[in-house]
Amino acid sequence: MMKNSYNITLKNINKSYQKGKNTVVVHHDFNLTIKSGEFVALMGPSGLGKSTLLHLMGGLDQPTSGEVIIGTQRIDHLKQSALTQWRAENIGFVFQSHHLLPVLSAQGNVELPLALTSLNKKQRQEHASYALELVGMSERASHFPKELSGGQEQRVAIARAIVSDPHILLCDEPTGNLDRKTANEILALLDQLNRDFGKTIVMVTHDKKAADYASRVINLESYIGEEHNCHMRESR
Ligand code: ADP
Ligand code: MG
Repeated sequence: MMKNSYNITLKNINKSYQKGKNTVVVHHDFNLTIKSGEFVALMGPSGLGKSTLLHLMGGLDQPTSGEVIIGTQRIDHLKQSALTQWRAENIGFVFQSHHLLPVLSAQGNVELPLALTSLNKKQRQEHASYALELVGMSERASHFPKELSGGQEQRVAIARAIVSDPHILLCDEPTGNLDRKTANEILALLDQLNRDFGKTIVMVTHDKKAADYASRVINLESYIGEEHNCHMRESR
């Protein structure tokens, strides 16, 4: 598979929400390309539409107009079932809160996304064990979320995100709930997944330390300014 077949392209994206009579414009003619293998930190003030961009890239949300292209696949037109399948194979999400299921062990939580694949039970167990090993959580595989620290829970969440071996990891403030030391460990883990396994990572963050790990930092506020200047767009 050619490496550039997993570039992320957002093309002339418009995204607005209807709130009663009002239209809230979040993105206006927004363009961005992220190359396969990049580790991008997406920064900027709250409410600017960072999470919205991640949701568009992962097909969790659709643009009002414009194109979302991942590799050769345009995903904004995919039907729900095709999109769910595509996402399961290509995208791992990591959120600020880990969203682990309390009734399942670490192992069970990591196996869960594989239910959407054709892997059998034994293969699912093996893949989950490997993902837990990669994030340094093998010894906690049988632990339930409440028996884990915040940093350990986030590691398990990352294992769950990578278990299907997706090319792209979309992380929304993954260190937002963690202390400095634990946050650094999570950033180092993402860095390792990027360097050693070639994962493309797009990470929304307020964490200034993120710049030490990312290969590109995009400050959305100035980016939108530059983008609009160079395209001679009207300001919103
Ligand atoms: P960020 O992640 O940069 O803080 P978001 O992408 O979450 O920003 O939100 C961008 C803007 O879109 C905000 O003004 C928010 O209120 C608005 N927004 C997000 N989701 C919805 C929704 N489902 N309905 C209406 N407005 C929304
Ligand atoms: Mg957000």
